[in-house]
Amino acid sequence: MTAEISVKELKGVGDKNASLLSKLGIYTVRDLLEYYPRAYDIFGLPENIAELREGSVAAIESIVPMRPAVLRTPRYLIVSMNASDPTGNIKLVWYNTPFIASQLKVGMRFIFRGRIIRKRGELVMSQPVIYSREAYIRKLSELQPVYPLTKGITNNLLLKLMKEALTLVGADEDALSAAVRKQYGLIRYKEALQNIHFPLSKENCIDAHKRLAFDEFVRFSALVRTMKENRKIEVNNYRITDFSACERLKESLPYRLTGAQEKVYGEICRDLASDTLMSRMIQGDVGSGKTVVAMLAILACVKQGYQACIMAPTDVLAKQHYEDFTKMLAPFDVRVELLTGALTAAQKRKAHESIKAHECDVIVGTHALIQDSVEYDRLALAVIDEQHRFGVNQREAIREKGDHPHILAMSATPIPRSLAIILYGDLDLSIIDEMPANRLPIKNCVVGTGYRPTAYGFIKKQIAEGHQAYVICPMVEESEMTEAENVIDYTDSLRAALGDESITVEFLHGKMKAVEKNAIMNDFSCGKIDILVSTTVVEVGVNVPNATVMMVENAERFGLAQLHQLRGRVGRGSAQSYCIFIKGSDSKEIDERLDILVKYRDGMQVAENDLRLRGPGDFFGTRQSGELVFKIADIYSDADVLKAATEYAGSMTREELLCFSRTQTNNWII
Ligand code: ADP
Ligand code: MG
Repeated sequence: MTAEISVKELKGVGDKNASLLSKLGIYTVRDLLEYYPRAYDIFGLPENIAELREGSVAAIESIVPMRPAVLRTPRYLIVSMNASDPTGNIKLVWYNTPFIASQLKVGMRFIFRGRIIRKRGELVMSQPVIYSREAYIRKLSELQPVYPLTKGITNNLLLKLMKEALTLVGADEDALSAAVRKQYGLIRYKEALQNIHFPLSKENCIDAHKRLAFDEFVRFSALVRTMKENRKIEVNNYRITDFSACERLKESLPYRLTGAQEKVYGEICRDLASDTLMSRMIQGDVGSGKTVVAMLAILACVKQGYQACIMAPTDVLAKQHYEDFTKMLAPFDVRVELLTGALTAAQKRKAHESIKAHECDVIVGTHALIQDSVEYDRLALAVIDEQHRFGVNQREAIREKGDHPHILAMSATPIPRSLAIILYGDLDLSIIDEMPANRLPIKNCVVGTGYRPTAYGFIKKQIAEGHQAYVICPMVEESEMTEAENVIDYTDSLRAALGDESITVEFLHGKMKAVEKNAIMNDFSCGKIDILVSTTVVEVGVNVPNATVMMVENAERFGLAQLHQLRGRVGRGSAQSYCIFIKGSDSKEIDERLDILVKYRDGMQVAENDLRLRGPGDFFGTRQSGELVFKIADIYSDADVLKAATEYAGSMTREELLCFSRTQTNNWII
C-alpha cells in the first residue's frame, strides 16, 4: 500500500521535520493522512470593534494608523498596534514575530483575525493573522482545518504535506467493497480523506467524517472480536473457593458495602470460582467505591497463595493505592509491594526480585507492572484501575504477563450500557449504580473571576473547620500568550491573598519529579497541606476524603467529563462538599455548558446533556482533551456509526478482517 511509506519521502520533510512530526505520532504517510483536524475554523464577516467578546475569535477591519510599537522583554519581542473602526478601538499584539512590523505599512487597510483576550483589564486581539480584503473574501465561509500542533510544525505546513500525501493514495484504494459502502451509505476512502482535510462544505465534511469513523470503529471492533474469540477457550487455572478472609475484611470496614457493591462483588466471586477465566469490567461513577471491591477480589486470590496486582495510570494514584492496601490488608498478613517509574533503579531491582521470589503478594504500580523485566510468581488476578486511561493493548499486555490471570478492569467513563457492551465486547460488564449512602450531594456554583475573594474567604472558613481544598489551574508556567491561570504563580498570589501564614498552600503538576509529586500528595493526604494548587494530575482517582472544596480556575478550558472527574475528588466523605467553577471568559455557550454540571450530578447525565448541547454529528467545535478517545470517531455522537460498524465487523470474513488488521496500529483508549 503506497500510504505505508515514510513521511521523509514527501517534499519538505527532511530529518528535522521528520523528527518534529514523530512527536505527533506521525511516521508514515498513512499516519499523516490519519492526523485529522481537531476542529474547523469558519471565517465570518468582520465585526464591529465595540461588539467584540472576550474569548471569541473574530475579524475586524482597520487601517494602520502609525508605525507599530516594538517592545523587547527578556523572553518576548512584542509588536503592538492600535486598530480602530467607527465603533471603537482595540490593541493588536504579536509575540516573537518581528517581521510583522514591516508588513504593517502606515495607511494601509487590512482585515485582522485573532482571539480576543483580556490583558490587564483590557480587551486585546492576540496574534491576529493579517489579510487583504480580497484574500479575506476568498476565505469567507470556507472551512479551515485546525490541526493539533507542536512547536516547529505549523498548520500551513501540515496542509501542504496533506496535499502531497493525498496524491499517493490510489483512487480505488479501499478496504470496503462497493457493496458494503452502498449498504452503509459510505463514500470512498480517498474521497473521505480528501474531504476531511480540504472540505468544500459542511455536508461534505460530515460524509467524510462518517466514513472515517466507520473504518476506525471497524478496526476497533475487529480487534475486540479477535480478543473475544481467543478467550472463549481459556480455562480457569486459578480457581478461588475460599472467601472467608473477604468476609472479615468487610466487617473491618468503617462502613457497609452498598447494595451495588455487594452485587458486583458477588459477580466477581462467581467468576473466580467458575470454570473459565474472569474478564470483567466494573463501571461506576467517580466515588461509587470501586477500589474496595477490587481489594476484596485481590484478598481472596492472595489468601489462596497467589499473587495479584493492580495497575493505575499515574504515580500519584499508585502510591495512594499502595498505602491504602498496605494499611487495610495488614491484619490479614498480606505483603504489598510498590512498583512505579518513580522508584530508583536499585529500588526497582529489589521490587523485581521480591515479586519473582513471591516475597510479596499484592503488587501495586503503574505501567511499570507490564514491563518485560517483571516476572510474577503465580499471578492470578490483574486489576486495571481507571481503564479509560489505558489502551486496549495494555489490557492485552497484562493478560500476557504471568500465565493468563483473571482480569478486572475498572472505569468511571459514563457510557450507556448498550454502547459499553460493544466497546468492552471482550469483557463481562458489572455496574455500580449506587452511591454510598452517607454522601451529601456536592453543592456547585459557576462564577466569574470577581467572585475569587469571596471564594477564598469561604475556603478559609472550611480550613478553619479542619477541612482541605483543591484549586485547579490549566497551565503550569506563566506564558505571555494566554491569561490562563498557572499553578506556580497562582500559588504565590493565593498565599498573598490569604494573608495567613498558618494556612499551608503547595502546588502539584505533571512536570514535577515523581518523588516530589508523591511527597506533596502524601502531605496533602495526611493533612499537612491545607490547599493544593494543582493541574489536572489529581483528576484521576485521588482520594482525600477530608477535602471539601474543589475550585477550578478557567473552567471553560476543560471538557465536561474532565470537570466531572475533578468534582469527584470531593464529596468522598460525610461532610458537605463544594465545587466552585470560575470562568475566565464569558459567553452564552460557556454558560450553557457549565450549567450542565450544576444541574446534573450523575456522570451519565452530564455526558448525555453535553452531547445534546453539541448535537449528534457536531464535531465542528473544539474537541475537549480528556474526552478524546478515538482518532476521529466519537463514541457519543457517532453512536449509530459504532453500531453499524460493529455489525459489519461481526459479519466480516477472515480475508476482510485481515484487510483491516493490516492498518491495526491503534491503541484505543476507552
Ligand atoms: P471510585 O469508585 O471513584 O474509585 P473509591 O473507591 O476511591 O471511589 O471510593 C471513594 C471513597 O468512598 C473512599 O474514601 C472509600 O473509602 C469510600 N467508600 C467506598 N465504599 C463505601 C461505602 N459503601 N460507604 C461509605 N463509603 C464508602
Ligand atoms: Mg478509583
